[in-house]
Amino acid sequence: MDTQPKPLKGKRIAVVGGGFTGLTAAWKIQQHGGEAVVFEANSVIGGLASGCTLLDVPVEKAYHFLYKTDAHMLGVLKELGLDEKLEFHKSSVATYYDGRLYPMESPLDLIKFTPLTFLNRIRAGLAVLYLQNVRNWEKLTKISALDWLTRYSGKQVTDVIWAPLLRGKFDRYYDKVTMCWLWGRIKQRVESRDKKLGGEALGYIEGGFVTLVDKLEAEIKGSGGTILTDSPISGIQSEKNADGELKHMVSTGNATEEFDSVLLTVPCSVAHRLLREQHEQKSPEYFEKLKSIDYLDAAVLLFATDKPISPYYWHNINTPNSPFVVFLSLTSLIGTQQFNGKHVYYIGDYIPREHEYMSQDPDALKSHWFDALGKMFPEFDEKSVLEHQVFRFRDAQHIVDVGFENKIVDYRTPAEGVYLCNFSQIFPMDRGTNYAVRDGIAMAEMIAKDIGE
Ligand SMILES: Cc1cc2nc3c(=O)[nH]c(=O)nc-3n(C[C@H](O)[C@H](O)[C@H](O)COP(=O)(O)OP(=O)(O)OC[C@H]3O[C@@H](n4cnc5c(N)ncnc54)[C@H](O)[C@@H]3O)c2cc1C
Repeated sequence: MDTQPKPLKGKRIAVVGGGFTGLTAAWKIQQHGGEAVVFEANSVIGGLASGCTLLDVPVEKAYHFLYKTDAHMLGVLKELGLDEKLEFHKSSVATYYDGRLYPMESPLDLIKFTPLTFLNRIRAGLAVLYLQNVRNWEKLTKISALDWLTRYSGKQVTDVIWAPLLRGKFDRYYDKVTMCWLWGRIKQRVESRDKKLGGEALGYIEGGFVTLVDKLEAEIKGSGGTILTDSPISGIQSEKNADGELKHMVSTGNATEEFDSVLLTVPCSVAHRLLREQHEQKSPEYFEKLKSIDYLDAAVLLFATDKPISPYYWHNINTPNSPFVVFLSLTSLIGTQQFNGKHVYYIGDYIPREHEYMSQDPDALKSHWFDALGKMFPEFDEKSVLEHQVFRFRDAQHIVDVGFENKIVDYRTPAEGVYLCNFSQIFPMDRGTNYAVRDGIAMAEMIAKDIGE
């Protein structure tokens, strides 16, 4: 028998956004005895980590894996009885530069990376070694990655290795990104090394991340919660009822429902739009911070072939002016068995909302990227493509610029009873599903403490 205290008994909580933060929060709200109603704008749940099918096999719309250090995600998988479905695989990484592919998995690979002078290969390695051992990351928040790297690993190393990656990931903001962000990325990757596997170990859930999305959905619905898709929230009005209780009226285009509390798991710009009118005067600085956080969108091409293109999992594309930043082979990581011997790939790029990738005809974008891929990998034959799909994601990555720590907003918004939790509050580590589930759990606890019996 479940003997957990139920502080949220009788309370209805609206969870706006059905990504991993919202779904985990709703699952836990149900466990705390509340009634969670998830409103998701899209037609499917899972947010940036949502799934689709390719060759009739479930897979993520955008490439996703877990690190060995993703303890919060491991805990959730265990609690949901899915831990056996998580398997770690040895990753393989290569850098494409100036017409050639270079393996980039070990210090020896760096030593063999001839685009850099020998001295600069040593410098590049020493800088990464130094970063791996940094404990006092706070000082890295004061300097941009580009400046730090130029200072400590030199101009050539920065121009050849780092600047193309920063440009690819952060587009026009590439020179603003804090060194602290890059430090967090390097730390995660280094800590995910596994002696037994002989390199970086990356985790993948059997059946894809959608296995976890489906399980969370079943838990939420099975305990009396509700998930509404195609339900973008367009307004929230907070007011006291006749008994003096604070209630929140949450509206989609065609209906309004009353809740005891609201958890927003949407990007900062959406939260700004939903709350500003009624609450900006109470705390202008909160709304200034929300407004100051910029995001980039992402475009992703997912495709399957019957012939392999590359043996590596992750390809950093470091050639200047490349039309995409990353090329990835899921089946090089997890094997082709799940896909009946076929090969599964992703091409991805982060871009501003107005970039043509966000509105271009999907076939035109595919052709543009396949042309470039064919030049990089002469063994790629477009005729071997069995299926492809193009996805676009809004607000896929926030800009973690110098001084970002001063922009992070509180989970408790100026609207009493309304909470905001999104990946811009994850710092200094990079956003990821591990932190989404950690924060979803924490939000349910916070709400239970604040409004529970
Ligand atoms: C290309 C790419 C690769 C990634 N790779 C990895 C990886 O390998 N490993 C990893 O752990 N993480 C990865 N991530 C990050 C990971 O996907 C996110 O950190 C995580 O999914 C965020 O979950 P979330 O619920 O906080 O946000 P989201 O997934 O963004 O969910 C927010 C939800 O709110 C909805 N919404 C917005 N406005 C409204 C509204 N008005 N009304 C109702 N709903 C609304 C959105 O539709 C969305 O579903 C990757 C992300 C991208 C883009």
